[in-house]
Amino acid sequence: MRLNYVKKFKVEPNSKVKLNEIDPSYKGDEDKDSAQAELEKYAQRLGYLQYLMYAENKQSLLIILQGMDAAGKDGTINNVLTVMNPQGCRVYGFKTPSVEELAHDFLWRIHQAAPRTGYVTVFNRSHYEDVLVVRVHNLVPKEVWSKRYDEINAFERHLSNNGTHILKFYLHIDKEEQLARFKQRLDDRNREWKISETDYTEREYWNQYQKAYEDAISKCSTDYAPWYIIPANRKWFRNLAVSHILVDTLESFNMKFPPPTVNIAEIKKKYHTALEEEKRK
Ligand code: AMP
Ligand code: MG
Repeated sequence: MRLNYVKKFKVEPNSKVKLNEIDPSYKGDEDKDSAQAELEKYAQRLGYLQYLMYAENKQSLLIILQGMDAAGKDGTINNVLTVMNPQGCRVYGFKTPSVEELAHDFLWRIHQAAPRTGYVTVFNRSHYEDVLVVRVHNLVPKEVWSKRYDEINAFERHLSNNGTHILKFYLHIDKEEQLARFKQRLDDRNREWKISETDYTEREYWNQYQKAYEDAISKCSTDYAPWYIIPANRKWFRNLAVSHILVDTLESFNMKFPPPTVNIAEIKKKYHTALEEEKRK
């Protein structure tokens, strides 16, 4: 029997996270081959549930992906989330803020990208960068970033009060796995484009980033917007755990297709009349 990954990987509000106590290679009793069949089932279910959310058009889902470089944010989108219908799904990647964005408060660009009713929106990086890279590199003074945890909680509470469900995934890899993935990028012409000037310089700040993540996750895992720490050294396990949590959570929303806006019995009669006419031709 599969463990309940919602329970297992959810960070309880007010708990103190220690990332080095969490095994990034965890796979429980799962194995790669049987996971494949499970993943396909989850994919079908996820596609259906997103379609239902779109049809119902009452609530929305915001999925936030965070993790160190090469943790698998893009991979999770490619492998888990592409089953969704693009008509009701959006993906936003947050990069270094533009001059215009920097001239506003840090949540300005984020709020604009938040999902409308019926939509699933995925953030590849997010407002959490404003307490991660910004904190590690002192891009603003401590008095400014240290207030942001409360501001983030208030913002996420606001979205949640307005019908947006929020799920936040920290994709947990270790330093060795990161280096192995950097090497794959060097060895694969199709991945070379992902290499950035800062990959190795940011790696030097690994411990500071881990500390910043621990604070962000500990201070901002709430009932309305929980953090999940996903062991992500194994890509297949990461995909399985994220799929499981997404499907389980979406199932709990009790979504329903809206009732028809027309009188179906009347429309059926019209259909049969049209069919008879067609036959007589
Ligand atoms: P990537 O996700 O690999 O395309 O890289 C995006 C880059 O943008 C990363 O180096 C992030 O640290 C950076 N970034 C994202 N948001 C912010 C932010 N609010 N302030 C500074 N840098 C950011
Ligand atoms: Mg990168």
